[in-house]
Amino acid sequence: MLDYVVIGGAQSGLAMAYHLKIMKKKFIVVDGEKEIGASWLNRWDSLKLFTPTEYNHLPGLKFNAKKAHYPSKFEVANYFKLYVKKFNIPVQLDTLVTSVRKTENGFYVTHKDGEIETKNVVIATGPFHTPYTPPCHTKISGTINQIHSNYYKGLYQLQDGDVLVVGGGDSGYQILNEVSKDTSRTVYFSGDTKVKSLPHQFLGKTLWWWFTKIGFLSYNKYSWIGRKINSSTQPIIGTDVKEILSRENVIPGGRTKDAMNEEIVFETKSISTIKNIIWATGYRPNFKWIEGLELDADSYPKNFRGVSNIKGLFFIGLPWMYTRGSATLGGVSKDASYLANLISKEA
Ligand SMILES: Cc1cc2nc3c(=O)[nH]c(=O)nc-3n(C[C@H](O)[C@H](O)[C@H](O)COP(=O)(O)OP(=O)(O)OC[C@H]3O[C@@H](n4cnc5c(N)ncnc54)[C@H](O)[C@@H]3O)c2cc1C
Repeated sequence: MLDYVVIGGAQSGLAMAYHLKIMKKKFIVVDGEKEIGASWLNRWDSLKLFTPTEYNHLPGLKFNAKKAHYPSKFEVANYFKLYVKKFNIPVQLDTLVTSVRKTENGFYVTHKDGEIETKNVVIATGPFHTPYTPPCHTKISGTINQIHSNYYKGLYQLQDGDVLVVGGGDSGYQILNEVSKDTSRTVYFSGDTKVKSLPHQFLGKTLWWWFTKIGFLSYNKYSWIGRKINSSTQPIIGTDVKEILSRENVIPGGRTKDAMNEEIVFETKSISTIKNIIWATGYRPNFKWIEGLELDADSYPKNFRGVSNIKGLFFIGLPWMYTRGSATLGGVSKDASYLANLISKEA
């Protein structure tokens, strides 16, 4: 029987694996994808991180790029591959876990080809499970090309004609930026146009340098200031929202309220010329495959710093698991070392 199975082999799972390796635990990392770094590679091609090199280090190995450089998704995937190689992390790919169930002595981790027995489990399956698209998308004509941002790769996926980008988060604005550079298209935008955006550089330092300096990434969610940051609208980072919205071919329409065949109904108008819709409307979590797990009102696991209600079952990489940094490349290390410390005391 293994000591640990880590489910998910991206940044969070690898950061945890690093510590398990140091502690000489008998473990394996399993991942449903066929390639290390797939969760990044699956994102759109022009994606650039909003965190510069020096804030992307996982424990034990620095992200190898110039300081103040904003890496591409390909650089992140290569970094993960190097990480696995350097620490000789046992990763079993193409192993999608379908259930985790507690037994008297540990857990059964069931995947598409069999079952693994282990004393403990670390869930590192990330914050993005089921792409969410507003229900009105089912009423839209099949002649309109609809893509969730999860599957958007680049302009080549679009058919000729106008585009609608829905969603005013980092993904929505980055995609709006890319699509509206093609000035032959009118691009409608449905999302918050009042959201604050922050530049990558400020007074000669990177934004992340300032965030670290003021402790923005370290306030925990149980503190007054942490709660305040968590509940406020997050600024868009490194994308100039005002400049994009001022482009001649970008037309904000307010919220998307409804749709019927070719007609898309916004707060401010109805449009029938749209030929492509990109839904950057987020994700819903899915942890239903873990038997006996208590979930909170947002369907995330109840936990304290990764310790769940089930003995021997841990989490890493959840959004705001402890701080704003918990679900970032550079921030996951702290949570991983906290859990490692806890595990080493229990052993
Ligand atoms: C568009 C975008 C841009 C971002 N930019 C930045 C940035 O600039 N800087 C930064 O620090 N953070 C950024 N983030 C946030 C964060 O770093 C990522 O979301 C990160 O991918 C989360 O890492 P993770 O390891 O927790 O989960 P994921 O990367 O989501 O990986 C989860 C892994 O678990 C596997 N898995 C899932 N379910 C199962 C299962 N049932 N069985 C087996 N395997 C499974 C998946 O295949 C995947 O490999 C960005 C996020 C997005 C969406």
